[in-house]
Amino acid sequence: MRRQAWIVGPCAAESIQQLWDTARAVCRFPEVELFRCGVWKARSQPSDFEGMGEAALPVLEQIQKELHLPVCVEIAYPWQLEKILEHGISHAWIGARTTVNPFMVQALADAARGTGLHLMLKNPLAPDLKLWEGAFNRFRAAGLRDLKAVYRGFATSLPTVYRNHPMWNEYIRWKSQHPDIPLYVDPSHIAGRRNLILEVAEKALLLDCDGLMLEVHTNPAEALSDAGQQLSPEALAELMAHLPLQGSRSLDDALVAQRAAIDALDTDLLAILSKRMEVVRKIARIKQDSRQPLLQVERWQKVMEQVLQQAEKLHLPADFVTELMQLVHAASIEEQERELKKSHSPQ
Ligand code: PEP
Ligand code: MN
Repeated sequence: MRRQAWIVGPCAAESIQQLWDTARAVCRFPEVELFRCGVWKARSQPSDFEGMGEAALPVLEQIQKELHLPVCVEIAYPWQLEKILEHGISHAWIGARTTVNPFMVQALADAARGTGLHLMLKNPLAPDLKLWEGAFNRFRAAGLRDLKAVYRGFATSLPTVYRNHPMWNEYIRWKSQHPDIPLYVDPSHIAGRRNLILEVAEKALLLDCDGLMLEVHTNPAEALSDAGQQLSPEALAELMAHLPLQGSRSLDDALVAQRAAIDALDTDLLAILSKRMEVVRKIARIKQDSRQPLLQVERWQKVMEQVLQQAEKLHLPADFVTELMQLVHAASIEEQERELKKSHSPQ
């Protein structure tokens, strides 16, 4: 069974003391592979604390050497990359506000060529997986070999208890499209609140992430940025103790049997959908003959009402059934349109 790798450290470098205290507190966990630290912070307001800047680099260099704990830093400009390399820091990440901008990503990729930089790319602020993939392509083309993805959810105006919407379907889509790229999850920036971090981390492990990035501060309540989401080293230890090991792939008989059952049910599901489409095509002809519109909202509302009543009896979640039926209905309308076009086209 494999253990996930952990990347932990403060949101921002605040003081020499804070950096040493945090690094000493987390380096005793064998799971911790990297010490994260925001040296230059991109903040919403110019009056917000923007990190220690360059002054943090010699401290981090010393931490790397003395604690044998490699350090990674967020970079957004080529000059920042140059500075970290001057201080022997060869791990970095690109933040969500940078991944979103192909000009900046390309400038960084050009600067990273030939440096052997180990790089993590956070997803862009919006759920645009192509943009994220493009950033990987730019760094790959620049010859970088060690690239990892960090999933941190998406900025959203949708109602959610999280700071950034997790949109786990996008995570699954990304992981399916890029099984070769190690995928880490950042529960701190998804949750935005300490009390939600455990559930986000649990979900990430259930979805087979390769590692977790977490913000840790020796005194979270007093942190100069992201105070609500940073964990104390004690809370980090507790979180680690709660999270199960994950990642085994044993194929026992019971699992094989249940998967066969799922495959058979999927076949049935498709056969039923195909039968439903057959009926839909007949309905299209009838509507055409009696000059009725394809979309008849009263009927659609009645169908949804019936289906949701049945779903409740069958203990199926209403959200899921609603979304599924909306897809089925949209496909039915399209199929009816196709059917009518067929009957209009010259024989
Ligand atoms: C961070 O990790 O400190 C950070 C700013 O995250 P993101 O780019 O995901 O907002
Ligand atoms: Mn942060």
